[in-house]
Amino acid sequence: EVLINQIAAGEVVERPASVLKELMENSLDAGSRAVEVQLTQGGIKQLRISDDGCGIDQGDLGLALERHATSKIASLEDLEAVGTMGFRGEALAAIASVARTQITSRTPDAAHAWRVTERAREPVPAALNGGTVIEVEDLYYNTPARRKFLKSDATEFGHCDDVFRRVALARPDVGFQLSHNGRLTLRLAAGDAERRVREILGDEFMTHSRRVEVDAGAMRLSGFAALPAYARANRDAQFFYVNGRFVRDKLIQHALRQAYADILHGARHPAFVLFLDMDPAGVDVNVHPAKTEVRFREGRAIHQFVFHGLTRALASPLQ
Ligand code: ADP
Ligand code: MG
Repeated sequence: EVLINQIAAGEVVERPASVLKELMENSLDAGSRAVEVQLTQGGIKQLRISDDGCGIDQGDLGLALERHATSKIASLEDLEAVGTMGFRGEALAAIASVARTQITSRTPDAAHAWRVTERAREPVPAALNGGTVIEVEDLYYNTPARRKFLKSDATEFGHCDDVFRRVALARPDVGFQLSHNGRLTLRLAAGDAERRVREILGDEFMTHSRRVEVDAGAMRLSGFAALPAYARANRDAQFFYVNGRFVRDKLIQHALRQAYADILHGARHPAFVLFLDMDPAGVDVNVHPAKTEVRFREGRAIHQFVFHGLTRALASPLQ
């Protein structure tokens, strides 16, 4: 069982940033309004996340570190229409198999909080006002071969920062805070989408962007796309979400490139923050545990919709 978890961990837990992604998604699935992340040494030494979500009750806490202990799928049909971020029930088990892991949590109706660790899985009483605190320490302490693949603290922090921004961009209604080695690096107050995009991509991006808002009933494309004047040397300012999930998808990337083809020349890359919302049954997000790839049932229709929607937005007169 430990070995299976460690193998799964290789897929789910590539580096501190992948741990962070899973834990942030869990916090959001729990309905949190505020999520605070503290990293030490790029998240390798410690990654601590606290939220004000629904918490985990004593009984579930005892199972939370076990593989396939998910509270999010009740049936096979649910698997088809995944509404939440997590749905595999393997992230916490995988993390706990390769790092010292501690979960402290308190549901609203509990008299006090409970705590489990990867070594002591029977919940013990603990102190916490509400929500959940997860601490992950010494990533890959027990699998040195893996640990060798981790890069410098600065590089790992950079990956964590990327994940943090990706997740935060999609949830402007939630407040987020990130600190590294005891210093606050990014604080995002809950607000509207435009404010969140401005905070993360900057005023310059907003000045050069067109608002995208296309509704075709079953599909909706919304967000901001920058004009060629704001093209970048890299793809760092490219954010595309399908049903709230950040994706890097070939089909989507092709549609976007086509939409920019006539106006953007040279080796520069477009900048955008776009959200595609559609029937969850039309998209398979279960392609890879890291979950940045997706498979669309109606690929052609999606391609057309994104291409035309974006082309129109980019051609529209300044707003
Ligand atoms: P999944 O997210 O796929 O269900 P995880 O291993 O990520 O699997 O989490 C296991 C379970 O632990 C979740 O289904 C959820 O019930 C609970 N859980 C994890 N993190 C939190 C959290 N921050 N707040 C509330 N419940 C949580
Ligand atoms: Mg999860």
